[in-house]
Amino acid sequence: MTIHPKSPKQTELAIRFLIVGGGMSGLACAIALRRVGHQVTVLEQERALMTNSDAGGIRMPPNLSKILFHWGLKDELRKIAIKSMAIDLCLCDTGELLGKHIWDEEVFRETRGEFIFAHHADMRNLLYDNAIASGAKVRLGCPVVSIDPDRRTVTLASGDTVTADVIIGADGMGGISQSVMDIEPPVAAPLNMYSTTVPKAVIVNDPELTTIWKEDLVTMFSWFGNGHAVLGFPTGGSDPDFAMYVYGPVNGCESDWRTQTPIQGLRSVLDQCEPRLRRLGQLAKTARCIPVAEFTTVEDWVHESGRMVLLGQAAHPIPPGSIQDCALAIEDGAVLAKLFSHLRSEDQIGSFLWAFEELRQQRCSSVIMNECGIVQYMTLPPGEFQQGRDQSMRAKRDAGLNALQASDDSEETPEWAEIKEVFGYDAEDEADNWWVQWGRLRERAKGVEATEIVNISLFTNTS
Ligand SMILES: Cc1cc2nc3c(=O)[nH]c(=O)nc-3n(C[C@H](O)[C@H](O)[C@H](O)COP(=O)(O)OP(=O)(O)OC[C@H]3O[C@@H](n4cnc5c(N)ncnc54)[C@H](O)[C@@H]3O)c2cc1C
Repeated sequence: MTIHPKSPKQTELAIRFLIVGGGMSGLACAIALRRVGHQVTVLEQERALMTNSDAGGIRMPPNLSKILFHWGLKDELRKIAIKSMAIDLCLCDTGELLGKHIWDEEVFRETRGEFIFAHHADMRNLLYDNAIASGAKVRLGCPVVSIDPDRRTVTLASGDTVTADVIIGADGMGGISQSVMDIEPPVAAPLNMYSTTVPKAVIVNDPELTTIWKEDLVTMFSWFGNGHAVLGFPTGGSDPDFAMYVYGPVNGCESDWRTQTPIQGLRSVLDQCEPRLRRLGQLAKTARCIPVAEFTTVEDWVHESGRMVLLGQAAHPIPPGSIQDCALAIEDGAVLAKLFSHLRSEDQIGSFLWAFEELRQQRCSSVIMNECGIVQYMTLPPGEFQQGRDQSMRAKRDAGLNALQASDDSEETPEWAEIKEVFGYDAEDEADNWWVQWGRLRERAKGVEATEIVNISLFTNTS
């Protein structure tokens, strides 16, 4: 549990950050801020973090893994995660393999990251252990009941209050931080997403599922259907599972990531599908059901006091199960900490928070739009678009091409170019670039102003 041995630039002015919420975004942000020398306390309502036995999987793209590698967590990640090598694109109803894409190693080398899969709980525990090892105070069993950004104080359910220099709202969608910022609750969902897992040991011994677990070519599956879709991938770790996200119509399920929903809801979607999915539905024992809300953009991430900011799901809700869900949450912490590594005086705090908002909103809105598009693409109703999607994939498959490869002379498809751009993004570099282009300039401008003031007062005194 070592934080990156090569220390990053340290802040000249260490301040106190209070993070409400110890999910992925809160814990990653705690590590990032500790790396640059700030004091951090995380307040998490859960008394204990979930363990693997009953949790779902997450996909971590290169833009996320490269941050963790940079923080010195590569070896720990290797223990809990497995590297993705290929994707199979199939039809839900018939199981037809429409296409296949084998990831190009060169692309990942360029991105300086890896595309990896793990259990959500393993990843969160990894961040929790490292937040503590880095010197952050993480207080479990501490629900926050109110936040006063002007006084920079939060009140706990116990009645205690905690004060800080900056409050970070990392308590997810619909949390108390969003209400302090007057953010409307999300609009009712047109789709549900079920998250479940089936143990590897069960799958490899099942004659109907021999094509699901591929030891030699770690494969993610994407099944397209009419109003429903399934994503499936193996998790890494000592107790691997096949994790699934199953999108289907709203059917009255009331649940969240922590609460189980009756398994019939998940099975009712999978029962309409090809035999392998039906079988996986029978083998799944538990499920969580998360609404896929109509996403509205959160315009203000920084409170008018200039002392509170939102991040993760609280700032930029994204459809559950998206590839970039956890990645955006962790990029946030990396960017915020990079900006605050330049802190020299209190009057910079507000401008760093607004710089964070500006930098991250651009990135998040384009990624989220893309992720919403992927859910639509997978669940297209029968018609022109669905036929075009299937036919172009079949044509490439029959020509022996990768699914995301261009079928004409151009080097790559627009989809592949976009994926490479999203994966290639380096959150910490972006924050460094902001500092070089704008941050330093502002400091210099302030320096000039300060010098002018000194000169004027000297002049006044002598005259
Ligand atoms: C328990 C859990 C399990 C999940 N499992 C999966 C999964 O298997 N696969 C997947 O793809 N995604 C999963 N997710 C969702 C995923 O982690 C997030 O969508 C994403 O990573 C962004 O995380 P976040 O930290 O911004 O928000 P969240 O993950 O929502 O974390 C917010 C945290 O804030 C805490 N909190 C909320 N209100 C308060 C309060 N008043 N006081 C103190 N603490 C508070 C919550 O307990 C939670 O830990 C899960 C989320 C949770 C909370």
